[in-house]
Amino acid sequence: MHVVSRDTIVYAMSAQNKPVLNVEPGSQIQFQTWDCFQAQVTSAGKGFDGVDWNRVNPATGPVYVNGAEPGDVLSVKIDSIEIEQQGVAVCGKDMGTMGASFTESTIKIIPIKDNMAHFSESLHLPINKMVGVIGVAPASGEVSCGVPDLHGGNMDCKEITDGATVLLPVNVPGALLAMGDIHAVMADGEIGVTGLEVNGSVTVTVTVIKQAKGKELPLPMVLNKHCVMTIASDADLDIAADMAVSNMVGYLTKNEGFTLADAVMLCSLAADVRICQIVDPKKTIRVEFPRKYLTNGGVV
Ligand code: CA
Ligand code: ZN
Repeated sequence: MHVVSRDTIVYAMSAQNKPVLNVEPGSQIQFQTWDCFQAQVTSAGKGFDGVDWNRVNPATGPVYVNGAEPGDVLSVKIDSIEIEQQGVAVCGKDMGTMGASFTESTIKIIPIKDNMAHFSESLHLPINKMVGVIGVAPASGEVSCGVPDLHGGNMDCKEITDGATVLLPVNVPGALLAMGDIHAVMADGEIGVTGLEVNGSVTVTVTVIKQAKGKELPLPMVLNKHCVMTIASDADLDIAADMAVSNMVGYLTKNEGFTLADAVMLCSLAADVRICQIVDPKKTIRVEFPRKYLTNGGVV
């Protein structure tokens, strides 16, 4: 298995980032990853003295996937997510949905034992590991790893977890895949501005889907056993929702033969529109459509 070390840090996704590894499609790769603070926040308390804000939201990589050409689709199957035995959560002034209610910030270090996060002595939450940042180089310029967009990035989608597949656009040769920002526990919304942020590693298998023999896929998408999902991000949550819904309706009409009216009615009856997060510079919506209503289970 290929390993991408935690030393290969990027803070933005860009075609300018030098690949740290070249792999063939079908390869399995372990990305060793930092939490969103790059492990700078390790003790409970108030405030963030000493935190270098230029070193937040690191991703590791990027990986060049041989044969991936602009217009192709990069399929990233999440084989497993490993996490360390404690994570950090924060809230405070100007952070997240409740940021105006605080005058200072609070840091909580949360131990993780036996697949439970020990929020307090008596309150334990089951872990739901997910990958917060996963993306490829955008077609031009660079996008901070703190921002989600068409290239993936900081989508903070809790369905990006063991067994799920993330479909990303290939914008530049090799795609340049990078990821980081594992959460041990997170709920839809991520309202406080963090999940339970944790160092760890993500093992993935990458494949390339050639558009020519593929379908018209509105990317990024996430697939799991039960659903196909469209993901869209915008500074305005309403616009993100419109985009994610229209992407799903488009997927159904172009690839599944539904009329526009049937696709819309079917989504209205069967597709859940959910919030991934409402705290990043762009907010993220996902639409979950059950595979059981798709021809042959849909997509790939
Ligand atoms: Ca994040
Ligand atoms: Zn995070």
